[in-house]
Amino acid sequence: MDDQLQRLNRLPLRDDLRGQHPYGAPQIDVPIQLNVNENTHGVPQDVQDAIVEAVRGVVGGLNRYPDREFTRLRESLAEYLGHGLAPEQLWAANGSNEVLQQILQAFGGPGRSALGFPPTYSMYPLLAAGTGTAYLKGTRQEDFELTAASAARQVRELAPNIVFLCSPNNPTGTALGLDVVEAVYEAGEASQAIVIVDEAYAEFAQLGTHSALTLLPGRPRLIVTRTMSKAFALAGARLGYLAAAPEVIDALRLVRLPYHLSAVTQATALAALEHRASLMAEVEEIKHQRDRIVKELARMGLTPASSDSNFVFFTGLGDPQKIWHGLLEAGVIVRDVGIPGSLRVTAGTERETSAFLTRLEELLAADGRLPAA
Ligand SMILES: *Cc1c(COP(=O)(O)O)cnc(C)c1O
Repeated sequence: MDDQLQRLNRLPLRDDLRGQHPYGAPQIDVPIQLNVNENTHGVPQDVQDAIVEAVRGVVGGLNRYPDREFTRLRESLAEYLGHGLAPEQLWAANGSNEVLQQILQAFGGPGRSALGFPPTYSMYPLLAAGTGTAYLKGTRQEDFELTAASAARQVRELAPNIVFLCSPNNPTGTALGLDVVEAVYEAGEASQAIVIVDEAYAEFAQLGTHSALTLLPGRPRLIVTRTMSKAFALAGARLGYLAAAPEVIDALRLVRLPYHLSAVTQATALAALEHRASLMAEVEEIKHQRDRIVKELARMGLTPASSDSNFVFFTGLGDPQKIWHGLLEAGVIVRDVGIPGSLRVTAGTERETSAFLTRLEELLAADGRLPAA
């Protein structure tokens, strides 16, 4: 055991945090970073200019606390989402991870439970652990699909206080049908479960994939979370948000830190929302690269999952770790999510995507086992 770990173990740390590992996607400085589903196309110049201008406008007032209710931002988010949502139904925090944490603080905690369906977003169990909420692991089909009947049955059996539905699911990339959300909500009636639909990648949905926002009317226990980290290319700015019934927002006010959303963050997010045209054009280009990856991987004899996101999960690899290292040697980092025979790759720019595909095909060939088509 190293020294620092020994010193940590001597601290009066909460028992339930002992032996836990922090979130840790590797941050390795390589030229082509396709491992954490960031927007690889960068912040468009007009959005950069608008953000700088907006931040310049608030710097002189940084001696004062910001608008605690971030009123203008909530108006803008409501307008962006549409679906007849009012600003009273919107809430935001420093990344959707903070939004999720606030939901757990308000509705989870000691003696309560949250249900997720692995493989899914790796932060759910960590957020549960941090808030003292028991994390229950549901199951999926072998192909990682989750049916309405199966999900509802598990919710009835486990009677959780909170359910995480990730749509499209990370790491597999496929969206849930709204029938799953409806069935889970109904099954959660008995335990009065809060149902979270994490739509971090909603803007990358394929035609015909519908948002759970359409289900909000009449469902006060339903929460849809979104983020500006992916489609809006603002992972570094930290702005996540949610839509729900106004009383859910009232619950979150009880646990949020005072003035949790800085004036700089509010100004940045507002400027990006006002200049979203160029960002949405970028989203179309990313979807194009994603579709190209799916097509090319299938041509190489691999099995890519259908993707409603800016990344592609694929199986059919004999030795994913070897491929991962081979890609890294060529300056391309992708994600090994620990599922046998698989890797996950973020859609890059056209050049980045080409570099990934070319190198992958070389590695498969060198392995002497280009899988049978
Ligand atoms: C990337 C991602 C998020 C975004 O987190 P932020 O805190 O908003 O950056 C949320 N949920 C899932 C499933 C993600 O993949």
